Amino acid sequence: MYCPQCGRQNPDSSNFCVSCGAVLSAPVTSYTTAAVAKKSNPQATTALILGILGLFFGIVSILAIIFGGIGIHQTNNDPDLGGRGAAVAGLVLGIIGTLGWVVIAFFYFIFLLSYIPYE
Ligand SMILES: [Zn+2]
Repeated sequence: MYCPQCGRQNPDSSNFCVSCGAVLSAPVTSYTTAAVAKKSNPQATTALILGILGLFFGIVSILAIIFGGIGIHQTNNDPDLGGRGAAVAGLVLGIIGTLGWVVIAFFYFIFLLSYIPYE
């Protein structure tokens, strides 16, 4: 940085000018605002949990899609709201779970049909 008093260049880490000894004000960091924790998004967290549960319990996958959609919608409306990743993950897991259970139900149906005697 440059000394505001004499204009001499000083190392960024120095607190005083090497030439005239003037106090060098450190640039105000913007880290403080960036480090503020984002607001939690309970719907997004719920979606992620439901998405994982849905892989084991079929109907929960549909709830994961609903909560994931709500969570994504909320993060779109409020950029400060965290949890978008969790909401997307919950939504994707919900879709995968739902498709998985539909496929299982389909093959179970085929399996049942194979027991109907052809006459
Ligand atoms: Zn100086």
